[in-house]
Amino acid sequence: MLKFKRTPPCETSADGRGTCARKVALVGNPNVGKSVLFNALTGAYVTVSNYPGTSVEVARGSVSINGVSCEVIDTPGMYSILPITEEERVAREILLHESPDVVVHVLDARNLERMLSMTLQLIEAGLPVILVVNIMDEAERMGLSIDIPLLQEKLCIPVIGAAAAKKIGLPALKEAIAGYVRSKRAVFCYGKRLEADLMEIMALLAGRYAISKKSLALFLLQRDDEVAGIVRETEGAAFAAIEEKVRDKIFARRSSFHLELSLERKAVVKGLMEGVFHASSKRKPVLGERLSAWAVRPLTGVPLLLAALYFGLYKFVGEFGAGTLVDFLEGTVFEGYISPWMVSLFNWIIPWDILRELFVGEYGIVTLGLRYAIGIILPIVTTFFLFFSILEDSGYFPRLALLVDRVFKKIGLTGRAVIPMVLGFGCDTMATMVTRTLETVRERVIATLLLALAIPCSAQLGVILALLSRYPGALAVWSVCMVLIFLLVGLLASRVVPGESPMFYMELPPMRLPQFSNVLTKTYSRVQWYLVEILPLFILASILLWLGKVTNFFQTLVSWMKPAMAAIGLPQETAIAFIFGFFRRDYGAAGLYDLQTTGLLDARQLTVAAVTLTLFVPCIAQFLIMQKERGTKVAVAIAVFVSAMAFSCGYLLNKFLLLTGILL
Ligand code: GDP
Repeated sequence: MLKFKRTPPCETSADGRGTCARKVALVGNPNVGKSVLFNALTGAYVTVSNYPGTSVEVARGSVSINGVSCEVIDTPGMYSILPITEEERVAREILLHESPDVVVHVLDARNLERMLSMTLQLIEAGLPVILVVNIMDEAERMGLSIDIPLLQEKLCIPVIGAAAAKKIGLPALKEAIAGYVRSKRAVFCYGKRLEADLMEIMALLAGRYAISKKSLALFLLQRDDEVAGIVRETEGAAFAAIEEKVRDKIFARRSSFHLELSLERKAVVKGLMEGVFHASSKRKPVLGERLSAWAVRPLTGVPLLLAALYFGLYKFVGEFGAGTLVDFLEGTVFEGYISPWMVSLFNWIIPWDILRELFVGEYGIVTLGLRYAIGIILPIVTTFFLFFSILEDSGYFPRLALLVDRVFKKIGLTGRAVIPMVLGFGCDTMATMVTRTLETVRERVIATLLLALAIPCSAQLGVILALLSRYPGALAVWSVCMVLIFLLVGLLASRVVPGESPMFYMELPPMRLPQFSNVLTKTYSRVQWYLVEILPLFILASILLWLGKVTNFFQTLVSWMKPAMAAIGLPQETAIAFIFGFFRRDYGAAGLYDLQTTGLLDARQLTVAAVTLTLFVPCIAQFLIMQKERGTKVAVAIAVFVSAMAFSCGYLLNKFLLLTGILL
């Protein structure tokens, strides 16, 4: 929990050496050169550890800077001091809880206008800020020039132009850190109405806080729960009046306060940029800027999206992940070596048939659970997360959000929902968790429903792409069905689910070449999360299936499902894939893969099975997360609706295919 506590300032002796280390925090957006600066300042004396209670790593180094002993902290990247991600939360916690003596805000000179907004926030909070305008070398190469002394005059804080990678500006920064004294700071004024509202809230804040009351009031208006908790604790009974005032102010606006504040800050930054920033008229837009413009315009954005889907999903995840890699891991490694070895090993150590079945039988933990998890699911999920992390690191998602915003508005969502929706193609459980980043309850419910219904997870998608692409037209039928159902149910949900429509506003970070190390780290942590999540469930499923087989319950269940399977034109054996699907969507997909290899299904049946199975009930893990995030009532309602929808669509599709003769 965040606490605004001030640590006593360092006392400085006559020789300038502090009696305790001066704390210096480096803050700023990701990829602006904080780590390069940190290494240049600290050299080899560094410790890296997880921030308490989180998985976020923070590096600290103790050094003497121009004779002043300092502890330098490299904080995780943050876009604003209103945190959304865990990294941003940690960065803010360091800023406010550890009360640094100097806050060095590092920004990228090429994106000065966009990044200055955070400098404003830091100054506004009353923090002791030094601004480093980094990557000046690249900015100059692009024909941009920045008047550093003028910017310093306007901001009333030390401003240093730097190219950290070339050690340019380092001596000036060291001097500024060692000699830093708090002085009067610039005051930025917003529009009349916002200033008046802020004054009213500030007048009610009577306690002592580590950051300015104006900053606190802005956090309250942006509904920052952590700050609200601290104000509640500090103000006691008076908090009710503050809360009421804040609610009134938000209600009176009827529009997104985030958007309004963002526009106000933009206006202040525009004023600051006047005379400071010059771009040569001969400057040509670089490739990243051109790509960015193409990605948001429908005429160029849609073909770009289709190209990304074709090469990323179809070729890389479908053909390479679900095809080549699965053939090798499942076919060669598991079937050729691991399974036979394990069968002989268990034959040797376990004399009882029934118990041996549990490990190496038809539904055995090794021969089914581990084979599915590692032989089929792992390669597909890894290739998907690799593709997702590349898109994420390139800055493409915010552009995609802008592109689809208009269509998403029709189905009760906004462009913001693009991230959980795309992530759903990796793992719907993970994506359902991410829906909490959406602004309104209505948007979260609709996104949860659509994820449970029409977004196949990567294993399903990989298997479906690999299986259906063998039959001309089958993949097209499946794709058209999924898109139509997604849009129709979305349209319906936006009419039925109560609540107000949200506004959408998103900052566009620059597009860039994805960084290899970032992509690998993100992919690794997602795959790791995924395996920890699925392995126990796969093993549990194997045990339950084994129990079902031993007690004959499984056969009974399959025969119960016989009429449902017959209604959608599928052989009774397909029920097995559906039963697997109860445990995990990907388990069901792997079951379908197995059935296909026995040649049991023709093109029509495969398509109907793929559509029904994609729509079919959310798996256990997703259901539990739905229940946790949205409550039992909503989760059960979604599960019932989704199951009914799956079989109705399967039934209609089967009839339609039989009637028209498509895929025969
Ligand atoms: P952080 O995420 O803010 O810690 O960013 P890093 O320190 O990891 O730097 C991101 C990228 O910017 C790296 O590839 C650096 O080499 C590069 N970089 C950092 N400073 C400069 C600079 O002054 N000039 C140029 N051209 N590149 C820089």
